[in-house]
Amino acid sequence: MRIAVTGGKGGTGKSTVATSIAFEMAKVHRTLLVDCDVECPDDHLLLSITREKVKDVETFLPSFDQETCQKCGICSQTCRQNAVVFVTGEYPFLIPEQCNGCGACMLACPWGSITEDSQVIGTIYQGHLEVQESLGLEGVTQGLVNNFLLISGEVAVGCEASTLVVNATREYASQLEDDYLFTVIDTAAGTHCDVISALMDTNLVLAVSEPTPLGKHDLELILELLEKMGLDAKIIINRADLGSLDLIKTLADEKGVMITLEIPYKKEILENYSRGVPALEGLVSDLVTDLVEEALQDDLVTVEDEMKEEDP
Ligand code: SF4
Ligand code: SF4
Repeated sequence: MRIAVTGGKGGTGKSTVATSIAFEMAKVHRTLLVDCDVECPDDHLLLSITREKVKDVETFLPSFDQETCQKCGICSQTCRQNAVVFVTGEYPFLIPEQCNGCGACMLACPWGSITEDSQVIGTIYQGHLEVQESLGLEGVTQGLVNNFLLISGEVAVGCEASTLVVNATREYASQLEDDYLFTVIDTAAGTHCDVISALMDTNLVLAVSEPTPLGKHDLELILELLEKMGLDAKIIINRADLGSLDLIKTLADEKGVMITLEIPYKKEILENYSRGVPALEGLVSDLVTDLVEEALQDDLVTVEDEMKEEDP
């Protein structure tokens, strides 16, 4: 079962929820946490995980052959990313950071003067939980360590093609999913392409919001997106006691989306956050139990899958 955790705006506690749910799930079930917030991945920091590089994400990069180039400028006119700069009478030149590797310029060049090169646009990492009693992670048993794997994508500095890195991160994670019962995907904030790519093919989306007018506005946008994508959604309200709950409750009623968890504003949550331990440990345990039950009911996870975990 794939569960995405998303939020209309940054700072709502989306990553805090995603890491805590994945941590709680991994106490019993094999769980993959996939950090698809590639411009600012922080799940490893929230769980004190040291990431190891798995591989670079590479994409097509055009290479211009000045021997055959006729300085026609068609490549520049074709590029929707404005990655090819052309001045009449000069050879075209590329701004690699703008290029998304679509290859249209190579197809359009009438003289075959563009050949295939590649550039690194990001990196995929993975990492395991560690038993760190000094950090207060007494709950991290060897079983939990074995059950849990973090996959984390990160776009190269200055690169515009972050969605390609999200796609590559999802693709890498999908190769491992057969070994895991649950995948928790942490998306970027907002409703842009990176978010859409991270949400694709998920079974349930948990939309995290705050009970403020801005939180309500952004939540409405994300719920509309989820509706268009045909994805099931539930709402989690963070810092639920610091605003007007009615704002979110009214919206939830209008959209017919259930509020599944209200997280209070607590000093202990901030302390956990600052120490790099699962900030909501305990607070999400009932939610995780419900999610596992729903997965069984909907046949997204079978009893046989669970038994395989117990007897690998
Ligand atoms: S389309 Fe080809 S020939 Fe024309 S400017 Fe670009 S590289 Fe040169
Ligand atoms: S590969 Fe696509 S984005 Fe890159 S320069 Fe060519 S047309 Fe532009």
